[in-house]
Parts: sequence; structure tokens; C-alpha cells
Amino acid sequence: MKQYDYLIAGAGVFGAIFAHEMSKRGKKCLVIDRRGHTGGNTYCKNIEGINVHIYGAHIFHTNDERIWNYVNSLTAFNRYTNSPLAMYKGKLYNLPFNMNTFQQLWGVITPEEAKRKIEEQISEVAIKKPGNLEEQALSLVGTDIYNYFIKEYTEKQWGRKATELPPEIIRRIPIRFTYDNNYFNDKYQGIPIGGYNRLTDALLKNVEVKLGIDYITNRSVLNELAEKIIYTGTLDELFDFRLGNLEYRSLRFDHQLKETPNYQGNAVINYTEKNIPFTRIIEHKHFEFGQQKHTVITKEYPLEYSPQNGAEPYYPINDHKNDLMHSRYRNLALDTGNLILGGRLADFKYYDMHQVIASALKAVQKEVESL
Ligand code: FAD
Repeated sequence: MKQYDYLIAGAGVFGAIFAHEMSKRGKKCLVIDRRGHTGGNTYCKNIEGINVHIYGAHIFHTNDERIWNYVNSLTAFNRYTNSPLAMYKGKLYNLPFNMNTFQQLWGVITPEEAKRKIEEQISEVAIKKPGNLEEQALSLVGTDIYNYFIKEYTEKQWGRKATELPPEIIRRIPIRFTYDNNYFNDKYQGIPIGGYNRLTDALLKNVEVKLGIDYITNRSVLNELAEKIIYTGTLDELFDFRLGNLEYRSLRFDHQLKETPNYQGNAVINYTEKNIPFTRIIEHKHFEFGQQKHTVITKEYPLEYSPQNGAEPYYPINDHKNDLMHSRYRNLALDTGNLILGGRLADFKYYDMHQVIASALKAVQKEVESL
């Protein structure tokens, strides 16, 4: 009989939910993380009373009432509604693409005028079968929306020309013919009052946590401690990169304290032109309607990822080659009997938080049924 039922490597959303649920069922869990804090990428650092999303802006949104009730039973959420803006050549436009954007772009007032404008531009480019991202976007929204908001922004994000990117990256571009700047279509959205650490703390309240411990480098000792291992890190690293490196895009965050109460008047402003090297500026206090004396902003710079350059793996590049490599790594993991994989890194998928919660709850249910 080992000391713990579960050793959970990774104190992000997946690990915290799994630990919380299994502890509630009387199981002994130890959560470890290689970082010096819990919460994974949702972690917030308090700077002058402002919860700074140091791994990128996180806005909770979901259509699933069960998930919304679950998170609200742990901590209260505010009524924040994401309404980002786009800056292009010194002018601001509303997002997502809606009647406000079309009014700012073309001076049109009615949905009919806006529709006509977009349809005209789509028929002018006359693309039947898009062969790359540029052609795909042009065939969906026409030239102006593509040139102002998509082309240069996407090229910055991916570090490649839009004509060299596959069309599948953009399957659809949401367009709204109403004056509605709410970015998400989901029924529920908000930010935990007091920041995301409140959610993590509530999940891990009765769970033993050890920080600054890397599962990979300590696995021989750690494996002896628990009956089962829950691993939420990358699979190539788990198997010493023996089948190759999984590819990701990364980001560099430049956090700055500004001695002004309000820097940009909105939480999120995207910079869509190519000669500005960052993709967006986040002003964190606006997520919680902060009234602090000063403010903290973050500029996000797209970055190449390699396991060796110290960058974080943020966005998986889900092309055929990487997906195949990931499934081969997954097969190796299946041969390891007492190992459960979960979370965005081990699954090699971009997950929003509500999706990770749903997948962690599913993993818990599967585990409970197997006991
Ligand atoms: P993570 O949060 O990455 O947690 C994994 C943890 O495992 C990390 O703490 C890591 O240090 C640890 N770990 C890894 N390997 C090891 C090891 N070998 N030993 C010990 N510990 C290890 N979602 C939304 O819903 N809304 C948003 O607005 C949103 N914005 C985002 C913006 C950005 C820039 C990014 C990158 C993501 C965003 N997300 C957003 C997604 C959200 O961050 C994820 O859904 C969620 O954090 C995933 O949780 P996780 O537990 O799977 O992974």
C-alpha cells in the first residue's frame, strides 16, 4: 500500500479538479507542480491590488450550465463581458465583426448595406476553392475585413505568410449584423471576483500540494509514492522526445506598471498591423472593474517555441505530422498501466477552461467507475 492514491503532476485546472474531486471521495492526493505556484496558466500575480493574468488574459465563458454552476459553487464570478477592440493604423474598431465595425469601416448604417458591401467584395475576389488561409478568409469576408483585421495579425501570430498557412486554420469567421460587441456567443461569462487564484485555492483547499517539483526529473522517487499518476505535462518530454518534438507556438509577455489609473479604457485591444510587433495589449484591472491608483498592462509578443529556449508551449500546432506524433506518444503512455493523462498539454489540444473542466470531470467519473 503506497502513501497516496494519486500523484497529480500539474496544479493547473485539470490537476486541481481531479485532486479536488478524488479528495472529496476520500482518496489521498498529492499535487505537484514544477512552477512555484498553483493554477497553471490561469495563475494571477497581485501587483498593486490588481490581479495580473501573467500567462495571458483569461476570460471564463461557457454554454454549459453544469460547468457554470460548478465554478460558481467554488467562487463567485463577476459580470465581465469581453468586448475587445482592434487598432489598425491609429484607428479603433469594435470586435467581433459586427455592425459597429462595419459602420467604422464603411460608414454603413443598416445590416442590408453591410451585407451588400461584404457580398460585393467576396464576389470580386471570386475564389471557388481556397488553397490557403488568405484565400479562405477572402472568400468568407472579402478584402477590407481581411486586410484590416486578419492578414497581418495572423501572420504575426504564426510567423508565416497567410498564403503559406493552410485554409483549415480559419473554418469560419463569425460576422454579426447587429450592434453587439460581446465577443462570445456563450450563455455565461465572467471573471472570478478576486481573480483566478480564488478558484484554484477553493479546489485545492483540502489537498496536499508541493511546488517547485518536476515530475520528469524526479519520477523514479515520485512513482513510488502513489498508486496512480495523473500527468498533465507534454508527452514528448515524458518520453524523452524519443519520437521527436511536438510543435507549439509560444508568447512572450511584457508586463508594465503604469502610473496612471486608466491606460487604454478597455481590457483587450488587438494590434492588427504588422509593423507593431505585439498582437495585443491587456489592461488587467478592467477585468474586475478596478479602481486602483495605478494600472498594469501586458504586451503579448508571438514567439517561436522550442523545449530548449525556455518558452512555454501555449498553442499546439495541430497539423497532420504533429497529431500523428502525439497519438504515437499516447500509445506509449497506454502501455504504462497506472498512468492517466489529461489537460491541454498531455492531450495536445487547445482547450478553453470550461473544456478542461469538462474533461477533468469526465476523467474523474471514469476513474470512479473503475474502482
Ligand atoms: P496548464 O494550465 O498548462 O497546467 C499544467 C500544469 O502542469 C502547469 O502548471 C505546469 O507547470 C505543470 N507541469 C507540466 N509539466 C510538469 C512536470 N513535468 N512536472 C510538474 N509539473 C508540470 N481559456 C479560457 O477559457 N478563456 C481564455 O480567455 C483563455 N485564454 C488563454 C490565453 C492564453 C495565452 C493561453 C495560452 C490559454 C488561454 N486559455 C483560455 C486556456 C487555459 O489556459 C487552459 O484551458 C487551462 O489553463 C488548461 O489547464 P491545464 O491544467 O490543462 O494546463
